[in-house]
Amino acid sequence: MKEVKTPKRPLIYYYCIVLLIILLFNLLVTPLLSRNQVTEVDYGTFMDMIEAQDIGAVQVEDTRILFTDKAGTTAYQTVPMEDPTLTERLHDAGATFARVMEEPVSPLWSFLLTFVLPILIFVGLGQYMSRKLMEQAGGGKGSMTFGMGKSSAKVYVQSTKGIKFSDVAGEDEAKESLAEVVDYLHNPGKYTQAGASMPKGILLVGPPGTGKTMLAKAVAGEANVPFFSISGSEFVEMFVGMGASKVRDLFKQAKEKAPCIVFIDEIDAIGQKRSSGSGYGGNDEREQTLNQLLTEMDGFEENTGVIILAATNRPESLDPALTRPGRFDRRVPVELPDLAGREAILKVHAKKIKTAEDVDFHTIARMAAGASGAELANIINEAALRAVRGGRTIVNEADLEESIEVVIAGYQKKNAVLSDQEKKVVAYHEIGHALVAAMQTNSAPVQKITIIPRTSGALGYTMQVDTGDQYLLTREEIENKIATYTGGRAAEEVAFGQITTGASNDIEQATKLARAMITRYGMNEDFDMVALETVQNQYLGGDTSLACSPDTQKEIDRKVVELVKAQHQKARKLLEDNRDKLDELAKFLYEKETITGEEFMEILRGGERP
Ligand code: ADP
Repeated sequence: MKEVKTPKRPLIYYYCIVLLIILLFNLLVTPLLSRNQVTEVDYGTFMDMIEAQDIGAVQVEDTRILFTDKAGTTAYQTVPMEDPTLTERLHDAGATFARVMEEPVSPLWSFLLTFVLPILIFVGLGQYMSRKLMEQAGGGKGSMTFGMGKSSAKVYVQSTKGIKFSDVAGEDEAKESLAEVVDYLHNPGKYTQAGASMPKGILLVGPPGTGKTMLAKAVAGEANVPFFSISGSEFVEMFVGMGASKVRDLFKQAKEKAPCIVFIDEIDAIGQKRSSGSGYGGNDEREQTLNQLLTEMDGFEENTGVIILAATNRPESLDPALTRPGRFDRRVPVELPDLAGREAILKVHAKKIKTAEDVDFHTIARMAAGASGAELANIINEAALRAVRGGRTIVNEADLEESIEVVIAGYQKKNAVLSDQEKKVVAYHEIGHALVAAMQTNSAPVQKITIIPRTSGALGYTMQVDTGDQYLLTREEIENKIATYTGGRAAEEVAFGQITTGASNDIEQATKLARAMITRYGMNEDFDMVALETVQNQYLGGDTSLACSPDTQKEIDRKVVELVKAQHQKARKLLEDNRDKLDELAKFLYEKETITGEEFMEILRGGERP
């Protein structure tokens, strides 16, 4: 696709030019001005002139002799010599010993050079800079008024290589919703005849990397219409009013090119709720831009063929005015892919590389639970890179498995040297997690355990695989998960009677879960079904904010501690009861460094070691 955009230069670039010119002016012009109009002659000429009695005034200095001819029209200078009789001879020649006026530069020149020229330079530079500034701000060429506030929306000129819905794997509900838009763009008559009108704006909502941009491009690709793409943050400009004017310009361009798709990425950058009290600290520019966007959306007639798609991962922060009917009234969720979706995405991206016949994408998709489309694309690419490193052109299953670990846990840290004791502790810690998980019902089976350090800082980890997508968790299942998190530390306690810093991440995860059980899932009898916390950004890490009194907060903290403690004790008891298995498995892991889920289960069931 062709993309048109003006490159921007930083302001510092223009300041540097001004500085350079001032420097050059000082270096070149100033010495020129101070140089007088004196002719340099040799001492012989000077003596000849004395002899010819062609000397007017003479001024003898330490480093030079200044003199004029008889008529006094030209000033000369020469180097002084050891000449004791010079004064006498000069006197005889009728010279007058007086100050020789060095002929000044013509007043007109001096005026032009010292006064007019700098002013001209500065005015010229000022003009140039302001024009450049306008171009930067407006993104277009032209005079001050015409260039200001031109939108820098990229215009993708449709080409045959356009993205199609088939390139977007999974996300069937979203595609279904958008297919209607494509149909409308192909065949608007059908809709107008029935008196139906297309929504003017459609909001794509979901976590980062789930394919929102891709879907918007696919709509344009399927409908074969121009695609305007701009990011919300590009509207927010240095000068107040510029963003609003960009919005105007974008809509003007879009109407000219209709039917077309306008895609505004990260609309929350301008569409955030407007502050209720206008006081200090309000962002006028952003609000003006938002107001302009609202006005433009109201302004254009329905069925003009301009469809606005916007993407955000913070829908709760959007201004209600933006989402009311007549504006972005359709909301299309673009969620993280489920198991089938992940498998489909992996397969779409795997088409770009050569994979071995026996690669089982279903297993890979199961291992990559929770990964977004962008992460899955990354996993495929990492696997291809690993194959190249190994001197192969075909990607095998091991490459894919390793690349999932790379994306999840970082690269293997080849040169990290763990002491023997540390390696033992890590082995017990990881087996602790796996054993506690395996001894409890409803825990996901272990896929792989490794004690090879990773660049992310993890010294080892246990990879569990979700058997399917589970949407509901029972109280017992969450408690088991907490117990599994505490299993690592519990194993250290059971085996060494000592604890290490290795459990910091486990502690964080266990606390998070325990807290959510009490404050959000209503799984505590005392608080019953009362919401004590609200989720702020469900698509961005899910930060929560407390919604209760300080006394209740204290109570919550106490209950969280109780809950985690109970699960920790349960885990320790489980490990103590199975001490022989713990030792056996930890020893096996210590020797092999990486063991598979099957090997683990085999030893656990008391079978022969593979
Ligand atoms: P978003 O706009 O939601 O942040 P993008 O559309 O920019 O995400 O997706 C980033 C990349 O992730 C895409 O270029 C694509 O390679 C990959 N991707 C994401 N979702 C999908 C999907 N459903 N099918 C295929 N590829 C996907």
